[in-house]
Amino acid sequence: MSKRYIPYARQMIDDADIAAVAEVLKSDYLTTGPQIPAFEAALCRATGAKYAVTVTSGTAALHAAVWAAGIGPGDEVITTPLTFAASANCILYVGAKPVFADIDPVTYNIDPVAVAAAVTPRTKAIVAVHYAGLPCDMDALRAIADRYGLVLIGDGAHALGATYKGRPLGRLADMTTLSFHPVKHITTGEGGAILTNDENLYQKLRLFRTHGITRDAGEMNEYPGDWYYEQQFLGYNYRMTDFQAALGLSQLTKLDKFLAARRRVVAQYEDHLGGCSALKLPWHGKGYGHAWHLYPVALTAQAGRSRKEVFDALRQAGIGVNVHYIPVYWHPYYQKLGYRHGLCPQAEKVYERLLSLPMYAGLTDDDVVYVCNTLRNILG
Ligand SMILES: *Cc1c(COP(=O)(O)O)cnc(C)c1O
Repeated sequence: MSKRYIPYARQMIDDADIAAVAEVLKSDYLTTGPQIPAFEAALCRATGAKYAVTVTSGTAALHAAVWAAGIGPGDEVITTPLTFAASANCILYVGAKPVFADIDPVTYNIDPVAVAAAVTPRTKAIVAVHYAGLPCDMDALRAIADRYGLVLIGDGAHALGATYKGRPLGRLADMTTLSFHPVKHITTGEGGAILTNDENLYQKLRLFRTHGITRDAGEMNEYPGDWYYEQQFLGYNYRMTDFQAALGLSQLTKLDKFLAARRRVVAQYEDHLGGCSALKLPWHGKGYGHAWHLYPVALTAQAGRSRKEVFDALRQAGIGVNVHYIPVYWHPYYQKLGYRHGLCPQAEKVYERLLSLPMYAGLTDDDVVYVCNTLRNILG
């Protein structure tokens, strides 16, 4: 059929990005040079966070955050099933148990009522995913975290640029993680970061990404001489390279433009698909500054065709739709751990009907019209 192929997401790289990377490749530092603190400072300005720690991926960022929260064997951490596996895997990395709380069927974000019901004496933290770029109900989650003494971690992989009741992303949780994978708002190839406003967490995160080793004499137990450094706990090599940070820094200067382009795509989708009774378009509302990483539509009971039929027909037409997400605990690995179908009925029901339409800053008006017309034709 069509030669045209529209992916569900993709990066936007321009000549300035390429020049920024090339510049670092010609410099003295390929890793941990001046670009890292510069990118971290820019992330703080963009998100309102006091501190940012760059790492090698969004997954490494989640691992670091859960570790810095002091989570370990015997602990439970509550998260959503409607997410990429990394949001739950990070809990397993530190030997703790992921506890899945169901989603709100309107917003698709974790339901604070389900979170409160899932708290036990072993619960130590919440990993709240701002699904598709829509912030979770953070006031409700904060109240639960405070009541039970839990650490509140935001998985902001979808949410760079999001705001909640006027507050920026970097101020919504004790720690918030970002991903710079090419499908996300800005990219460094692979990459991620943790945002926090807590100096103590910041120092822990900084050392965690470099084996738990400090070279700062003020942090050491002894200081025999200038050759000396100390490993104070078991960390990892989660350091981003300097040329990745240069790319991130260059990309970040375009974030507002990228966000505006995404909002424009949303307006077009709402124009073209808003009247279609076979589709439920993603919710957004006052106080929730949506960052629009994804555009997940749900087929309604009015849709005459199954999700698989619609998915296959869109792919046939060169439209790279996707499904975000298979409930995490449906994966065979989680089934082996003892999680069972039926655990989170709302997430399971929504999953069966979801389709992510293309959403990225480089989508043209023409692309969007093509997607909408194709989808409307398929739905009949
Ligand atoms: C992309 C993503 C991650 C993982 O990020 P990587 O950089 O790919 O490791 C984690 N959580 C969510 C919700 C994501 O979408």
